[in-house]
Amino acid sequence: MEFNLIEKQWIPVLRRDGTPDWIAPYEVTKDFADNPVVSLNAPRPDFNGALIQFLIGLMQTVAAPGNGTEWRKKLVEPPPPEELLEKFTTIRHAFELGGDGPRFMQDFENFTAVDGGVSGLLIETPGQNALVNNTDHFIKRNIVDGLCPLCCATALFAFQTNSPSGGPGYMTSLRGGGPLTTLVVGDKHHGTLWQLIYLNVLEHSKFTNICGNSALSEGKYLFPWLGETKKGKRKKGETFYGEDTVPEDAHPAAMFWAMPRRIRLDLKELSVGSCDACGSDTDCLITIYKELPGGASYNGWFHPLSPHYEQTTKGVTSILPVHAQPGGLTYRHWLGFVIQDGNEKKMPARIVHEFYGRWNSNWQFRLWAFGYDMDNMKARCWYESTMPLLCVDASIRVRYEEQVAGMVKAASEILSNTRGAVKKAWFRRPGDAKGDTTFIDSSFWQQTEAGFYLALSSLTKTLESGNETQIIGHQWLSVLCSQSMQLFDKFAWEGPIEDADPKRVVVARKELEQYNHGKKIKGLLGIPVEQSGAENKTKGKKEAKPSELAF
Ligand SMILES: [Zn+2]
Repeated sequence: MEFNLIEKQWIPVLRRDGTPDWIAPYEVTKDFADNPVVSLNAPRPDFNGALIQFLIGLMQTVAAPGNGTEWRKKLVEPPPPEELLEKFTTIRHAFELGGDGPRFMQDFENFTAVDGGVSGLLIETPGQNALVNNTDHFIKRNIVDGLCPLCCATALFAFQTNSPSGGPGYMTSLRGGGPLTTLVVGDKHHGTLWQLIYLNVLEHSKFTNICGNSALSEGKYLFPWLGETKKGKRKKGETFYGEDTVPEDAHPAAMFWAMPRRIRLDLKELSVGSCDACGSDTDCLITIYKELPGGASYNGWFHPLSPHYEQTTKGVTSILPVHAQPGGLTYRHWLGFVIQDGNEKKMPARIVHEFYGRWNSNWQFRLWAFGYDMDNMKARCWYESTMPLLCVDASIRVRYEEQVAGMVKAASEILSNTRGAVKKAWFRRPGDAKGDTTFIDSSFWQQTEAGFYLALSSLTKTLESGNETQIIGHQWLSVLCSQSMQLFDKFAWEGPIEDADPKRVVVARKELEQYNHGKKIKGLLGIPVEQSGAENKTKGKKEAKPSELAF
């Protein structure tokens, strides 16, 4: 089977008038003036997340702008398909999914291994270990029996880009298992797929300076499947270890084309049938692939589309990519995704940093964050969210970032107080409380989100006019406290009936009110602490928050 990912019309998209279409990558600017492509249209959200990174990677690798002026011009006046095809053709040989030569994101060697069902390329499918140990309780094996070449190419790219730990010897992606990606998304005046791609492409020299060795320009240093596969080593009996691949060993573009897993699709045993991902009928249904342990172990890279954080272990400091955590993506992540969090040492993706340099005051752009919540080897769920990308003048940026950090941290404190107070209301011994209270968290973040962005808008105006920001702290505190009390009142009476005690609920409520107006929270919001009222009542007592009592 021959299936070239540069030439085939394999990317599912929607045009402005709602028509579904399938395009080759270079056709992304076709009909740009009349009926442009406005979005991807894959059958699964994680496929859309993979395809957009494929297209950004392609553009970054061979069609990146030389300077800021070129970038600005092409953002609104894209190159015609013929020009893109000419550029993409230079790397056509690396994008053949089948055939006898090197195959896209597959092992160079035609090795022998036990056949695996193609469902194993989908990240939510239990890994090899789970199948052997029969621990695939939630996602059953063999739900997906066959994939069409379009979906299979996407699944393969998604798998190598996100690869989870798959048991001993199976390597994770360049950014670890199931990384989080953040992309700049245009407003209604910049709402085409071309603009979504190009907003996330860096100028050539800026990209090659991030990390990687741009002197290594031979194809195999960009697309690892063009060279001999990195096999890793067998150590300690049967366990394989990956072969270290650090930025000095490969071209910067390898960040988009990393191949941690040794995979080969079986393209000889094709069958006729319908694809279990998109439902289309095909006579090239792919059902089997082979995989060997070992491969490339990527370390020390700094991917431009992921936020990172600093971690120091045993005196060694590393910069690591952020991964999604249970609970979803909310405005609490604004700190670290959109602006720097100096205290926690979290930094937005390089693409966001560049956006601030490119920003035009008429733009009302957003950040699209997505990724899997991983449970070690498999994905528990897929999260995605968009949040506003608010820009402020450099003269007020430091104060703005400090204030926003305080606002998010005050929200976390008040949420923690609320959770603790609800548990205190429910149980005689809150320390014994068990069970899931994440519904309190999600309600809290959701209900206070609009207020947060309103507060940010007032904060910018106040800082720009040189006025005092205390009033904004007061207003935000009031939003948080009001939501905290509403959630308490909603849930406090829903504890186990045998443990119910109305007096305890009343006490917990009173304490919650006090703690929410405590010194720590006021300090975070820059509100002066008066020694009166609620503060005096706790004077002389050891300050213990309900959350500390409860857990
Ligand atoms: Zn399909």
